[in-house]
Amino acid sequence: MIKAAAVRKSYGRLEVLKGIDLQVDRGEVVCLIGPSGSGKSTLLRCINHLETIEGGRMWVDGAVMGYDLKGTKLHEQPHAKICRSRVEIGMVFQHFNLFPHMNVLENLIEAPRLVLKEKRPSATARALALLDSVGLADKAKAYPRQLSGGQQQRVAIARALCMRPKVMLFDEPTSALDPELVGEVLKVMKDLAASGMTMVVVTHEMKFARDVADRVVFMDDGYVVEQGTAQDVIGDPQHERTKAFLASVL
Ligand code: ATP
Ligand code: MG
Repeated sequence: MIKAAAVRKSYGRLEVLKGIDLQVDRGEVVCLIGPSGSGKSTLLRCINHLETIEGGRMWVDGAVMGYDLKGTKLHEQPHAKICRSRVEIGMVFQHFNLFPHMNVLENLIEAPRLVLKEKRPSATARALALLDSVGLADKAKAYPRQLSGGQQQRVAIARALCMRPKVMLFDEPTSALDPELVGEVLKVMKDLAASGMTMVVVTHEMKFARDVADRVVFMDDGYVVEQGTAQDVIGDPQHERTKAFLASVL
């Protein structure tokens, strides 16, 4: 579903991704772990085409991201072409980024109506069903400021799902939450994983990684240092840098 081959990305003279190889199969849940600054968010942004890569290739669902089939860079292509690939990828951030002036239901149906051109009744029905699935059926008319952080993040997940994504990317979805609110968001993510969604999750929640991840990928300094099952990477790390990182977070 996602394949990165020798992906490189720099910001000015700072090389952030130094040749990333990564494969995520359909239905797989991959947790990305690693120290601050190792390039985890940058990699997610490259998968989502929020950044253009400078070296290597990135495929999402068989399509080469960043290039069309003739090899022309997509950022030299009409904007609409990039957008079509991007709507198939849902992204959830640390800070929920809901539209503050819209209620929950309006937040959910905005993109399906504008981008997917869905009619209001069908978009609304789908949004209400998704709100129910994240345990927030009674909050459709609430505004983001009236919700807890955990509720806002669950709305953000439902909003991403309204776009019928093929892949969901999560960037530290629980790290801005009070500890007592983390569990309800992880529960929604677990349910999503069980439903067969392909997911890439940047997280410091090692218990979530152990319980849910099919594979854990440890990144450091712009490289994938080690990957394998959670049992192997978290339980029995082979590389010194993985061991040092885990010692600091466990
Ligand atoms: P964290 O765990 O703190 O979120 P991360 O692994 O997600 O870290 P990135 O956000 O990918 O790390 O950043 C990797 C490096 O790239 C850092 O040194 C960061 O300062 C730098 N960086 C990230 N975004 C930009 C940007 N837009 N412009 C310049 N430098 C950037
Ligand atoms: Mg980050």
